[in-house]
Amino acid sequence: MFLDCSFYSEMDGSSEKTTSKIVSVLPNYRIGKTLGYGSFAKVKLALHVATGHKVAIKILNRSKIKTMGIETKVQREIKILRLLMHPHIIRQYEVIETPDNIYVVMGYVKSGELFDYIVEKGRIQEDEARHLFRQIISGVEYCHRNRIVHRDLKPENVLLDSKCNIKIVDFGLSNVMHDGHFLKTSCGSPNYAAPEVISGRPYSGPEVDIWSCGVILYALLCGTLPFDDENIPILFDKIKKGMYALPDHLSYAARDLIPRMLMVDPLMRITIPEIRQHPWFNNHLPPYLAIPPLDTREQANKIEEEIVQKVVNIGLDRNQVVESLLNRIQNEATVSYYLLLDNRNRKCVPSDYFQTKFKKKSDGLFNSTIPVQEIVSHVGRSIPGLTRLRSRIKDDKTWTLGLQSRGNPCEIMSEVFKALQNLKVCWKKIGHYNIKCRWVRSFANDKNQTIVDECAMILPTIIKFEFQLYKVGENKYLLDIQRVDGPQFIFLDLCVAFLTELGVL
Ligand code: ADP
Ligand code: MG
Repeated sequence: MFLDCSFYSEMDGSSEKTTSKIVSVLPNYRIGKTLGYGSFAKVKLALHVATGHKVAIKILNRSKIKTMGIETKVQREIKILRLLMHPHIIRQYEVIETPDNIYVVMGYVKSGELFDYIVEKGRIQEDEARHLFRQIISGVEYCHRNRIVHRDLKPENVLLDSKCNIKIVDFGLSNVMHDGHFLKTSCGSPNYAAPEVISGRPYSGPEVDIWSCGVILYALLCGTLPFDDENIPILFDKIKKGMYALPDHLSYAARDLIPRMLMVDPLMRITIPEIRQHPWFNNHLPPYLAIPPLDTREQANKIEEEIVQKVVNIGLDRNQVVESLLNRIQNEATVSYYLLLDNRNRKCVPSDYFQTKFKKKSDGLFNSTIPVQEIVSHVGRSIPGLTRLRSRIKDDKTWTLGLQSRGNPCEIMSEVFKALQNLKVCWKKIGHYNIKCRWVRSFANDKNQTIVDECAMILPTIIKFEFQLYKVGENKYLLDIQRVDGPQFIFLDLCVAFLTELGVL
């Protein structure tokens, strides 16, 4: 049992009465301060005693829910959250029901709402806005893939963790999409709602989230809302006509993307695959956001021995842990497992999260869970300007990105460092398996200059690139190289030199 003493300083006196009431029904948690209030719920900080990890507990009062006639909304939120496993979507660990309340135990997000962040900072610089926006889009894309539309996306429902990473919360208004069926409920917050929503027209789903994301993007880049008015009919009129101003300080690419997202006709509105191809979005796209994550079932079936062992160390039975995980049962074993897993992953998100997307498929040397079309589309269309080394396997027509290797990751990295040293590349370690590199071409020593090289002499000759090592299977690792800056041909030359150093070529 690990207890974090600092947690107790986060208890608030005002909550004592409620706290003692909660303690009796939630013996596995220590209850702390109130984190926020929503339209019908209170969210409290708590500590999961067995693992020592912090959680947020949403407390829904049953009689209030009944009076407000929102039982279906609540049941829907709970069901939806249970399905989702994504680095930018809040995790739900368990639901405890009593005759008075429903307690929804979720991951704790430390730094508060994106709304407060925007209010505090005013408009946000494009690079930072891009970082936040991309994470929102990747979470929303994941929901849509699981046929879930959020329908209430706004900066109050987008939280920031201690590393300024996004977690989307409050799926209360979402609905599971069924192909060909329209969602007929008009809902959401007026400033963020799409024209078809406020007009009460039937809408199919994903495009209403795209509109809301467009409003969020505008708010991030401009520090104000595109559509605002104290008078609701005037506000609705502005939304329906798509009337808003684009400030001059926006870059050319941002000025192009926002109107595509705030397109009044939902059929003309940009889609997520198109957003992914947009130059504003995919400028230096981090690898873990370049490829869609595993679907929920695949993730649930992936059991990590290291984490199982930690749960066993807490005092739980191994067979019970594994069986509960496989059958997706909610109990102390699975809650502990997922809390430990997520807190371990959080240390390496975002970049290392990517490794969970790969898993063993056959005994071939190169394996990937992602179908050929998707990889090709990511490499060829979604990530222009980003060069990856690709390898092809002969037998099952599947592609993999990067350089695959067997053996010890420390040894692989030391080979990489040796090769970089020989090539006079400077590097900075970002993590154990993630490095940023800078290489300055020295023409004086280069005897093999080609015509391309001569052209390059008048271009900048500094190449910036990144390495990331991913685990793709038992003792199998994948080295991904990504160009960040500098001429592409010279970077390719450098890759060839690097592969030669490693003895691959
Ligand atoms: P509602 O459905 O009533 O709007 P929310 O789920 O949006 O409730 O939660 C209300 C507020 O509580 C949020 O806006 C946020 O400030 C805070 N909150 C919610 N979930 C968390 C969490 N997991 N970690 C930290 N704060 C949270
Ligand atoms: Mg909310």
